[in-house]
Amino acid sequence: PQTKLPKVGTTIFTVMSQLAAEHGAVNLGQGFPDFAVPDRLIEELDKAMRAGHNQYAAMTGVPALRQAIARKTERVYGHKPDADAEITVTSGATEAIFNAVAAVVRPGEEVVVLDPCYDSYEPAIDLAGARAVHVPLDPRTFAPDWAKVRAAIGPKTRMLMINSPHNPSGAMLSAADMEQIAALLRDTGIFLLSDEVYEHIVFDGARHESALRYPELRERAFVVSSFGKTYHCTGWKIGYCIAPPALSAEFRKVHQYNVFCTFNPAQHAFAAMLDAEPEHYERLGAFYQSKRDRFREQLASTRLTPLPVPGGYFQLVDYSAVSDLDDLAFCRWLTTEKGVAAIPLSPFYETPPAGQRLARLCFAKNEATLDAAIERLQKL
Ligand code: PMP
Ligand code: GLN
Repeated sequence: PQTKLPKVGTTIFTVMSQLAAEHGAVNLGQGFPDFAVPDRLIEELDKAMRAGHNQYAAMTGVPALRQAIARKTERVYGHKPDADAEITVTSGATEAIFNAVAAVVRPGEEVVVLDPCYDSYEPAIDLAGARAVHVPLDPRTFAPDWAKVRAAIGPKTRMLMINSPHNPSGAMLSAADMEQIAALLRDTGIFLLSDEVYEHIVFDGARHESALRYPELRERAFVVSSFGKTYHCTGWKIGYCIAPPALSAEFRKVHQYNVFCTFNPAQHAFAAMLDAEPEHYERLGAFYQSKRDRFREQLASTRLTPLPVPGGYFQLVDYSAVSDLDDLAFCRWLTTEKGVAAIPLSPFYETPPAGQRLARLCFAKNEATLDAAIERLQKL
């Protein structure tokens, strides 16, 4: 039969987590914390369920949560989106990305993505009948080359997708990058999808350059975030999209027939958390920075070479001193023979750079988990 995603297999995250489980490997592959969510969040969830918030939520999201997101956005980025017209709560960032593409990208159009990019982008583009145009980031610094992006933009381009802090590299876009994007998109009908799921996980005093800080960008942007990353609960699958009223209206047409609404009790719990403990997201960068620093110090005792990590919770390592295997083969070998699961980078590319020897390790883990992984990595 004619199918729509002939090139798509099972995602690398599922493949590597299954392999890790089969072989009893320490799983630093798929990105998820292995520590507890804040106690207060569990209490708020329990309270919401007992208070009877167990039926369909408002289609666009629980009003208290949309208002809390608006206040948080103003507090962090100095811009307050309209809670009613501009914020939609979704089943994770994944749903938000899918909806944004489905809402505005038409068959035959093009979406520019920067490789390596998160693996859900291209299938969403393909299902819209559009084509992903891949522009490589620098293979070492993962910085964009805006001249290359400009060259990739043409009359069919409908959207540009960006992701900062970046998965898998942790690279961050600068204010100068955001100005470049504004200049590129000025006087075009091109929308911006800004994937900001790691917005609060930034290090060394850096500032996250949300598209929401830039009036020229936010008037054409779908800005996507995820509570899974911010509250250590990737399995709850709650995220949101901030977009101008006309774009949010289109986005909601997809959302209402995709899932209609998302898990009601958790929305009440996040609303309470955002207001009661802004310190949680304000301190998230420091919380992860200490994990990053400790992990990098430990990696110095292995033959893996860590690349810089400006944000996010992934550490890229160059393994060329250990092995000449390609990254898929290396990550399989590391998992099955050496007991540590990692994620190869090539699934994030249309055309992986020749000879690239990088693997991604997730450090959103307890010290004991990271210690166990390091003990094994020291034997490489
Ligand atoms: N975008 C990026 C860059 C991600 O890393 C992730 C999560 N791994 C997502 C989107 C999806 O987020 P969610 O789990 O909230 O759907
Ligand atoms: N975003 C997570 C990662 O990059 C995985 C999400 C998933 O498994 N779908 O590892």
